Amino acid sequence: MRRRVTLLVAAIGSALLAGGCSKAPPPKAKHLVLITVDTLRTDRLGSYGGTSGCSPFLDALAERGVRFANAYCQRSMTLPSMTTWFTSRYVAEHGVNDNKKRVPEEEHLLAERLAEAGFATRCYNATPVLEPESGIAQGFAPGDYRMFPDEAEMTRGAARYIERRFGRDDRRDFLWLHYMNPHKPYDPPGRYKTMFVEGGREVDVDPARLDRIYVEKTVLTEAERRDVEGAYDGTVAFVNDMVAAVVDALEQRGLLEETLLVFSADHGEDLYSHNAYFWHANSPYRSSTHVPLLFVQPGTIPAGRVEDGLVETTDFLPTVLTWLGVGGADDGDPALRPRGHDLTGVLLGETAPRRDTALSELDVVNPLSECGDEGAIWAIRNRRWSFVWNDRRIFPDNPPSEGFYPIAAQELYDLEMDPDEQLNVVADHPDVADRMYGALLARTSTLTFRTLADETDDARMKKLAELGYVLDDQSSRPTYAPPASDADPCEGRE
Ligand SMILES: [Zn+2]
Repeated sequence: MRRRVTLLVAAIGSALLAGGCSKAPPPKAKHLVLITVDTLRTDRLGSYGGTSGCSPFLDALAERGVRFANAYCQRSMTLPSMTTWFTSRYVAEHGVNDNKKRVPEEEHLLAERLAEAGFATRCYNATPVLEPESGIAQGFAPGDYRMFPDEAEMTRGAARYIERRFGRDDRRDFLWLHYMNPHKPYDPPGRYKTMFVEGGREVDVDPARLDRIYVEKTVLTEAERRDVEGAYDGTVAFVNDMVAAVVDALEQRGLLEETLLVFSADHGEDLYSHNAYFWHANSPYRSSTHVPLLFVQPGTIPAGRVEDGLVETTDFLPTVLTWLGVGGADDGDPALRPRGHDLTGVLLGETAPRRDTALSELDVVNPLSECGDEGAIWAIRNRRWSFVWNDRRIFPDNPPSEGFYPIAAQELYDLEMDPDEQLNVVADHPDVADRMYGALLARTSTLTFRTLADETDDARMKKLAELGYVLDDQSSRPTYAPPASDADPCEGRE
């Protein structure tokens, strides 16, 4: 059943995947506000089935526009994912496959495109991973890309900016806010800490404790698990209120009708749903790749619609370029051409998303992997099935270094019966697995792969290490035996 096919194929037929058109249509919005939240697991939101009540404003916001029920990010890690958001290209193509990389200068990011079209660009950002040194700030003037460790202060700053400068003097604005919460340590300020925990207690969410649970594969009771989820929901409630204040500032100035407002997350969070993992960077699963996605513009985007067709975060850039009347999705270097679909017709209620599959990728460079290999793990989903392909039996190697995140060579999940991807049914449905594998090959054979060197800036590496994104000492990591029931995954390797 295992196939040995090299995915490193030169680009062909990329036009099949590219959306957008080269002529600029008249704009449907004057401004763009993008609010991305780090590590927001979709199913915690009420509008996506969450039951804790931690997201009242976000749920009301979803009612005011289009909510995409099946949106996937292309990598469950901040910088790779946001690079895809802003380039509309897959991680394998832009090469920013890890937070330790730097977005290359030649990439044509959304903020650059909008600045070239005359927009004022401004960013309020709370995660050190997205510091200007990461290269993601291209298109923002240095003083207009602002980092805030305190998110309440960041929100006040953004609200003041909206009150005083946004859209003044007839200019067009692109404003991007990125919140660090609900990213670990699930420790929101004040009352949010205990709001959603049974009995209003404080929960021990020390990252060292959660890492130990993952490393030791501790079996938690339902109550213990709910406690951590409650702490996490408190961070979602905090962000809910921060977003409410920003949108309120737009409403106060009567700007919402002329502004395309997009709300989403860079990726989700496993929250113990796979391999006792409370983090995201190792995960190809829906818990960490399914993202919330809302598009709101009262009076232009019909309210209260739920769109359940498949979309990817690659679709964001071509959509907003058309929506803002900027065009240019196909301009410049064909090698940098956006890959996503233009969802303009979908937002207007005229068409449905036309994706058959959504693709996510997890690049691993792991000297201690089972076969001494490196490569990529892929996840491809349609509406019914989810297929994870790890033919080289690589172990994702994000910290903590003692941890183990096993992924089988092939995994298949029936999303109708098993949306949380708990029961691998690949042995029961080899025909489906073959079809999904064929779809994966068709998708990846159009990609041009690119490899970038890791960042060498010591100060940036130190910050990433503090956030838990850099392995401390590879040599301290134990090696693991493959599951005994499987054939030797290294057999026949070149
Ligand atoms: Zn992130």
